Amino acid sequence: MPRDPYQVLGVERAAEEAELKKAFRKLARELHPDVNRDDPDAETKFKEAAEAYEILSDPDRRRTYDQYGHEGLRSNGFSSQAAGASGLEDILSSLFGQGNSPFGDIFGFGSGRGGPEPGGDIGATVSIDLAEVLTGVKREVSFHAVTRCEHCKGNGAEPGTPIRTCESCGGQGAVQQVTRTPFGQMMRQSACPTCNGAGKIPDEPCEVCDGVGRLRKDRTYEIDVPPGIESGQRIRVAGKGHEGESGAPAGDLYVEVSVNPDERLERHSEHLVTPAQISVTRAMLGGKIGIWTLEGMRDVEVPKGTQPGQQVVLSGLGLPTLRGRRRGDQVVVLDVVIPRKLNRKQRHAAEELDELIDDPNPLG
Ligand SMILES: [Zn+2]
Ligand SMILES: [Zn+2]
Repeated sequence: MPRDPYQVLGVERAAEEAELKKAFRKLARELHPDVNRDDPDAETKFKEAAEAYEILSDPDRRRTYDQYGHEGLRSNGFSSQAAGASGLEDILSSLFGQGNSPFGDIFGFGSGRGGPEPGGDIGATVSIDLAEVLTGVKREVSFHAVTRCEHCKGNGAEPGTPIRTCESCGGQGAVQQVTRTPFGQMMRQSACPTCNGAGKIPDEPCEVCDGVGRLRKDRTYEIDVPPGIESGQRIRVAGKGHEGESGAPAGDLYVEVSVNPDERLERHSEHLVTPAQISVTRAMLGGKIGIWTLEGMRDVEVPKGTQPGQQVVLSGLGLPTLRGRRRGDQVVVLDVVIPRKLNRKQRHAAEELDELIDDPNPLG
């Protein structure tokens, strides 16, 4: 679950537009990788801050969040542009439009890497049933991904046509830029704007991809969901994200697993809890009752003299853990049902029993 955007930006819930902007600007400055080289999570934190700002700077989204939280935003179709972006430049242009960033001019944002950009990560989701958590399961995941254009084999040139070296960068793919910032002058490398970091320009651009070398395509991937997975956990598949620019590595695919709840079996990490109702006579006399388990119905022995709320532990009938594989338990919680109405025969029997049973109330 994403964090509370107010908390992320460190502002009051009543914060006004100007305060939001100020808070985001401060965070962005702290997290900018040209400044903060020591923190490997800077980009992730920056994304979080950008997402928070994305939500709170839009009055409609902010109202939805205030009333219904992240769930509400999601069911309204909001998905963070910043979260799906990769690289700071991408995040900012997704937020504010290319070259239109109110902060870009302060920082001269860029990845600082220069050269071709690696591919971005992709998020996808799968849902599985609780019983599948026991065994693990294979699932097909569908997603859109930027992939290599097969027509030009990714080099952006119509097959059989020459490719020239880019004159702007001399084939380096990167150019040096000096930017004035509040922290003084910064030397930055950024991707060459003429060749987009490729260092080469095709004479005749590929007809299929317009010379980009990459295309957005529908893709599927069969993912192995391991036994013991919990709802909300993500599986990372390295290199299955968006294809990188000319030769740069591809991003990763992150598959979030959602486990469908089972109304008969309540999950508590590796343990399962099942409520069961028994009659007052079964509680007194004991005996077998049918209980639903991950592997179907099973007879469970209720002890004599069972009290309301008493538990029967079915050892090893729970779920495995992600590590270890030892299965948890299934706990049956017994509720004793007292009949609200009795027919004549039952009432006679109860009255007879009443004569024979001592009143257990010491204060009575
Ligand atoms: Zn192509
Ligand atoms: Zn160039």
